[in-house]
Parts: sequence; structure tokens; C-alpha cells
Amino acid sequence: MNLADIPENLSELIVNKALELGFSACGISEAGHLSKDAGFMEEWLSLGFHADMHYLEMNKEKRYNPKLLVDNAWSVVSVLYNYFPEEQLPSADNYKISKYAYGTDYHIVIKDKLQILFQFTKTCFPDLTGRIFTDSAPVLDRAWAEKSGLGFIGKNTCLIHPRKGSFHFIGHLIVSYPLTVKTAPVTDYCGTCRRCIDACPTGALVAPHKLDARKCISYLTIENKKPFMQDFDFNDWIFGCDICQDVCPWNRFSTTHNEARFRLSDEIKNMRKVDWESLTEDSFNRIFKDSAVKRTKFSGLTRNIEAAKKKD
Ligand code: SF4
Ligand code: SF4
Repeated sequence: MNLADIPENLSELIVNKALELGFSACGISEAGHLSKDAGFMEEWLSLGFHADMHYLEMNKEKRYNPKLLVDNAWSVVSVLYNYFPEEQLPSADNYKISKYAYGTDYHIVIKDKLQILFQFTKTCFPDLTGRIFTDSAPVLDRAWAEKSGLGFIGKNTCLIHPRKGSFHFIGHLIVSYPLTVKTAPVTDYCGTCRRCIDACPTGALVAPHKLDARKCISYLTIENKKPFMQDFDFNDWIFGCDICQDVCPWNRFSTTHNEARFRLSDEIKNMRKVDWESLTEDSFNRIFKDSAVKRTKFSGLTRNIEAAKKKD
């Protein structure tokens, strides 16, 4: 294909298509080396704040340089997908799971939509190559979203869109074409606020923008595969933790998602503590068949429930 055949407004076409597909925001950045973020990540790793997530020590150069991850990488198209629910898990006599895990695993939902976006991009420019990413490869998701102008990284380490809040999944297309970059990075609007730091029940936000995963309920209840070594009170969280996002003033701008696959099933909605405590492996496999909760496995979830139960 002749380069002259490529629509001049290809970037706008991609952004518009992303919004049409239900993404809340879409921005484009140049696929350069993430030097500042690499420095931050290296310091974070050196402090051991990544706990047992040793995979973060691997493929570092690919993580910092998309050109090593995708042949001929020129541009990163970043998207946000809202998961803020209309209806939250009933709180009375109940345990808590993070809002992002209420429905179908986001990897499945976002991957389908990114695939459609990628195909659309290829119809505009058939010679284009690239890859889609949904928290599935060594990609610094929040750094790219920030670079693409989709928000700033708050003191709670989440990507915060100044008009839509932080309850979003992040995905990317990395493509072999120099798309026009129209978005500028967003200013950090945390200011003097420290609500997230003060609200974290385990002191995992050890400083602004510094999360010690070894103390974070989200890490401990999901990624951590070991028994709990410290006697933390998980405040009834049994999968993930939303506290540092729930208290963030920028989340007053959250609007409810429109994704049927993210809705709570009636079965999960009707569960109370006694049902969680008597969950069998068969029920776990059935109820969470397509859910992100599967990540912690039955053994992890029952470990979390036991720990939460002890604090009642
Ligand atoms: S997810 Fe929960 S435990 Fe982790 S930093 Fe946020 S408030 Fe603290
Ligand atoms: S709670 Fe305050 S300090 Fe924390 S991320 Fe939100 S605005 Fe920033």
C-alpha cells in the first residue's frame, strides 16, 4: 500500500472508533524509551516493594522500551475502560471483593474490544502491524496511559483521569506507524491531599506514589501465594481492596459502566459471610469460571476468608 493512501486523520479515526466501542478515553503517544519510569521502577524493585512478583524483574528492557517488544513499534494507542459499578456488593454481613472483579474477567472483555480496534486500524492501513496488550505482557500500563494524556498517576499509584476518576482498566495497541500525537500529559492534581495514604489500613502507601506490595491487601489477597506472615486486619476484603480509590476525591466523577459482562451475578450478590465461609471448590469453579477471582485460586480465596473471619 502506498503511504499516500493512508487517511490523513488516521489518529482521529482510531480515537473515534475506540470511543464508539465503549472505551471511556483514548490517547496516542510515541513509542519511545520510558526513561523516567524506568528509573522509578528500578528504585521500587531495589527496595523489594514488589514482594514475590519476581516476574517484574524479568524482561525489564522490553518493559521500558516498546521497540524491543513489538517490531517496528512507532506509536502506542492507550485506552481506558470503565468498571465503576452501578450496584455494589451488599455490605451487611458480607465480605468484600474489589469492584474490578465483579463480573467477567476484564482480560477477556478488553481483549475482544482491542482486537476490533486493531482490525479497524488495519482496514485503514492494511500494512500496519502491531500487538494488543491488556495487562498481559511486560508493559508499563499506567506510564503509557499517562504519556498518552489519559490522566495522572496519583499518590495511590493509580492512573486518575481528571474528569472520569480511576476505576478504569487500561489497554494498549502498539503499532508500526507514526500516528499523530495530539494529547499532552495531564498535570498531577493530587496537590496537598493525602487521603489515600491516611486511609490505607495496612500502611502500604509508604510515601506518595510508593506502594509496598508486601503490605498491600490487594497484593496479599491476589498475587501472594503464601500463608500470611503478618497479622494484618484486611477489613473484610477477601479479593483485592478499593479503599485508596474509594476515598480519592477524583472518583466523585466516576459514572457507572455500561458493560453487561461486568455486572454482579445474582448468585454473588446474594452471598453472605456464611456462604463465603462454606464455599466448596466445585462452587468456586462454577461461580468464578470466567472471573478475575480465579487468579487467587480456591486455596487463595479460602485462605483470605479464613484470615478475614479471624478478625470478626
Ligand atoms: S489497595 Fe488497600 S491495602 Fe493496598 S494500598 Fe490501597 S488501601 Fe492500601
Ligand atoms: S486520594 Fe488524594 S492524594 Fe490520593 S490519589 Fe486521590 S487526590 Fe491523590
